[in-house]
Amino acid sequence: MSEVLASYAQGSWFTPADEGTPLADANTGATVARISAQGPDAAAMIAHAREVGGPAVRALTFHQRANILKEVAKHLMGYKEEFYALSHRTGANKRDTAVDVDGGFGTLFSFSSKGRRELPNATVILDGGLEPLGKEGTFVAQHVYTSRPGVAVQINAFNFPVWGMLEKLAPAFLAGLPSIVKPADQTAYLTVAVVERIIESGLMPEGSLQLLTGTHEGLVENLGPQDILGFTGSAATGRILRGHPNVVDGGVQLNVEADSLNCSILGPDVAADDPEFDLFVKQVVAEMTVKAGQKCTAIRRVLVPEAMADAVTEALSARLSKVVVGAADDPEAKMGPLTDLQQRDRLRESVKTLRASSDLVFGDPDAVEVHGDADAESGAFVSPILLRARPGAQEPHDVEPFGPVSTVISYSSVGEAVELAARGQGSLVGSLVTRDEDVARDIVLGAAPWHGRILVLNRDDAKESTGHGSPMPVLVHGGPGRAGGGEEMGGVRGVKHHMQRTAVQGTPDMLTAITGHWTTGSRRDIGDVHPFRKDLSELRIGDTISSAERTVSRADIDHFAEFTGDTFYAHTDEEAAAANPLFGGIVAHGYLVVSLAAGLFVDPAPGPVLANFGVDNLRFLTPVKEGETIKVTLTAKQITPRTNADYGEVRWDAVVTNTEGDPVATYDVLTLVAKGEEG
Ligand code: NAP
Repeated sequence: MSEVLASYAQGSWFTPADEGTPLADANTGATVARISAQGPDAAAMIAHAREVGGPAVRALTFHQRANILKEVAKHLMGYKEEFYALSHRTGANKRDTAVDVDGGFGTLFSFSSKGRRELPNATVILDGGLEPLGKEGTFVAQHVYTSRPGVAVQINAFNFPVWGMLEKLAPAFLAGLPSIVKPADQTAYLTVAVVERIIESGLMPEGSLQLLTGTHEGLVENLGPQDILGFTGSAATGRILRGHPNVVDGGVQLNVEADSLNCSILGPDVAADDPEFDLFVKQVVAEMTVKAGQKCTAIRRVLVPEAMADAVTEALSARLSKVVVGAADDPEAKMGPLTDLQQRDRLRESVKTLRASSDLVFGDPDAVEVHGDADAESGAFVSPILLRARPGAQEPHDVEPFGPVSTVISYSSVGEAVELAARGQGSLVGSLVTRDEDVARDIVLGAAPWHGRILVLNRDDAKESTGHGSPMPVLVHGGPGRAGGGEEMGGVRGVKHHMQRTAVQGTPDMLTAITGHWTTGSRRDIGDVHPFRKDLSELRIGDTISSAERTVSRADIDHFAEFTGDTFYAHTDEEAAAANPLFGGIVAHGYLVVSLAAGLFVDPAPGPVLANFGVDNLRFLTPVKEGETIKVTLTAKQITPRTNADYGEVRWDAVVTNTEGDPVATYDVLTLVAKGEEG
């Protein structure tokens, strides 16, 4: 008898005592594993996550968490063959597995990289700038994101047992939340295999990842207002979770990624002999057949201009007739089976419903020719199915056939194309194939409120396009309305979804102390040692240099104009400059002011400051006229040691002031500084 799948709870593996029920190989119907509804105590798992996992993750900075994600991805890459073999048993062929397994690992790498580049090496994220709230500058506010002392429970669908888990786990972990993963039964054996490898690596702190297989009993019931429930699956289950008392009254944050009737639109500008026509047809067929169409992002509705409907239907049918259906590990087969026979029955039902208002133009829902030794009955094989909607058809906008099924629907105007796209009641993704910029603007802006992502495809971006159906870790994934209304990934946006944003009001000094980030208006510490002589172990937030003064002469301005070639009239032509409503005479170049400021604050000898790698937020506030005197105040604002280097980044607040003490330029100077002894 095959093994009963285990759960990983409270630091050990829990194997159910009963036999469980068999999980079938999608290709043959043979038993791959068994799954039991007898699980560990979900309430105890949640408590373990909150009490052990959460504190351990929150003790790490964003950069440390990001490094762990990268190491986990590298570790998992070493077991790809093992995962590929199991993935084939779910019905996923090599191409499908690349989306799930490699796509999942790629998502970990991407979040790791975003975490290190876009988040501070700290545990708090600042959101937006400082809000001054009083005239005197003693009362200000700053929005901050902090980690919740809760748990992220992630309930996943069967179709992406690896990617589906990792795309939720990565942002939650970066955000400082421990995760409890609940895979869908049908393909849980692959998720279990990946979790086993993660746990044995010892890379993730204990309690930051637990796995519950075969049951969801007690999971939602024990969540509270600091917890997040991330769900991917059918609209029907999404509805149950939305109505759960703990979501309705208990304050649990719920994110739903549900089904979606995604469309692809052929622009009215495209003729049958344009490259765009082929791109459109190829994309629709790819989206119908990858994962045998069991993708939440697959194209279900093919929207085409009336005059092109016959040509598109013929071209799609011709291409679909070349799709070889066979076992997932058969290299000759282009499309594998559905995940199980139950899915095939469900698909046949959906096609029956769709046929109430659409005609079958390709494929037989009840029969399919399979390649090689595959058995069309014991494996969950189906033919790709193309339908053509009759005028006024409603079903294609209501029913999600979760398999290789699409319906061609014709439109008569750009406005109608937008209306039809919207009839999906909210979709994860839409695509438009066009080269006409007016068409693109009208359709994309009209359809955008109904979509989480829109791809505009044509001959110019086709080579580099990542495709209609591929959610990208750096882009938001999710859609309004029927698609669930949730939003995942999107780079650091996905991390922030797991955190709490709070507006903190107080004095600038208080905000500096609370956030660890120097706040405008707070104390500046001017000592005897130039801050550029201090390495990261010595430098403190608030360390400041107040420079000597320098008078800007006309000779300086003339020299700068001639030397750089920037002879804009405001710096060179007295009469024209006098007529300028902002300047009223010759003024120094803004870049001259910034260059002179660098000359005033720099400490020239070799030392811990290794490089200046840019400036941020540069604003020229008051013009500097010849004869005026400037000085600069430079304050250490943010210190970010790099985890994998012997230096880090220091952001300095720079304010250049004139004779009256008014600010003439403000900006952040960005430097790399050596860590020193204690770094
Ligand atoms: P499903 O039947 O809704 O199941 C999804 C998950 O919910 C499974 O883990 C399931 O566990 C669990 N579940 C079921 N009832 C539950 C309840 N009352 N409380 C808590 N958890 C419960 O969906 P599916 O058939 O696996 O997935 C196919 C659907 O997912 C399609 O409609 C597809 O469009 C959608 N999908 C959406 C996305 C997206 O990103 N938007 C991605 C992939 C798939 P058991 O397996 O133990 O029942």
